[in-house]
Amino acid sequence: MPGPGDIGPPYPVGSHADGVLTEGSKRHWQEVRILNKRILADGTEEFYVTYVLFNKRLDTWLRRESLAPLHTHTEGSSEAMRSKRAEGAHAKSSVKYKKSQDDHHGHDVKEIHWIIMGDYHVKTWYASPFPDLPQGVHTLYICPICFKYHVSEAPYKRHMLKCTPRHPPGPEIYRCGNLSFFEVDGRRQKEFCRHLCLFCKLFLDHKQVEFDTDLFLFYMLCEHTPMGFRTVGYFSKELAGSTNILACILTLPQHQKKGFGKVLIDFAYALARKEGRFGGPEEPLSDLGKISFQSYWKSAILGYLYDPASPVTQCTIKDISNATMIQEKDVVNTLSLLNICKRRAGGDEGGVITCPPRKVRYLQHKTEMARLHWAPFPLMMLSTEAEVG
Ligand SMILES: [Zn+2]
Repeated sequence: MPGPGDIGPPYPVGSHADGVLTEGSKRHWQEVRILNKRILADGTEEFYVTYVLFNKRLDTWLRRESLAPLHTHTEGSSEAMRSKRAEGAHAKSSVKYKKSQDDHHGHDVKEIHWIIMGDYHVKTWYASPFPDLPQGVHTLYICPICFKYHVSEAPYKRHMLKCTPRHPPGPEIYRCGNLSFFEVDGRRQKEFCRHLCLFCKLFLDHKQVEFDTDLFLFYMLCEHTPMGFRTVGYFSKELAGSTNILACILTLPQHQKKGFGKVLIDFAYALARKEGRFGGPEEPLSDLGKISFQSYWKSAILGYLYDPASPVTQCTIKDISNATMIQEKDVVNTLSLLNICKRRAGGDEGGVITCPPRKVRYLQHKTEMARLHWAPFPLMMLSTEAEVG
């Protein structure tokens, strides 16, 4: 019996086509790769696609009428479009694009499209391997306290009545104003950390989301509310064997664009300072991670150079690195992005720089070391000599 699937090209999985991309009220055609297909109960055929030049968070199901044979609507070869795009028109997408090209088999079909978390209803970005979900579930209810998930509202509401912890399951190691950090040990709090990671994977396109939580510590940034401490973001850090100051970092989507990303990064550097070691984030950074870190590096370096109490007029890369704990390669890259670095003629590789006066916006929150009640975890005692030298 002929059905909608028998009309038009077959669009096999793995093939490329033109597909409609909806951005706000605008619709335009872009090259897509077909990742999966399905036929709904009413016979409608749908194709799960990824937009070749765009971030995976736009992956979606399209109906047949939103697809056309390749280059019916898009111009030129994909190579030409690719280099055009990479020139910067969509910087955020191009950052991720490079990775997705190496990751043809890394695409999972996103089943969960929405989460409900307390008062927030949030659209998800990526697939996450929640186990044993019934078919057809596209919304999950997530507890904002313990991150446990439910597939329907009634059990979620019953859980919320019983879920009474006032803070994440670990010691409070920092408090300033209404912000606190709690340290959660992935070996002791397996269930909490696993639920946290499943939730975070919905918003992180990162291979290293720590489903093996034994190897990580989790630093939970919380806001103090009348109901207790509520998580607004976190970063994880390997227990041992890494010089990275953090592995994964996420501000919960409902709390993004409020400055928490910088607080998280600043705190990760504060812990590194306590440990006396220089490091950076784990690479490759996600597109949003890269933006957050670059923004933090700019603020921290400008904050040092233009400190009103003792403005710096001449210094070396190493001076900046020592003062900010930012590793030298990140200092060099940031100075070049800021375009304020002037190397002294004939300068050695220490690179003496001069800093023109400039108005600077300072961080709203800076980790106060005196308020940090934390000792480096014993397993993280790494040789500081090798890293500093
Ligand atoms: Zn809970």
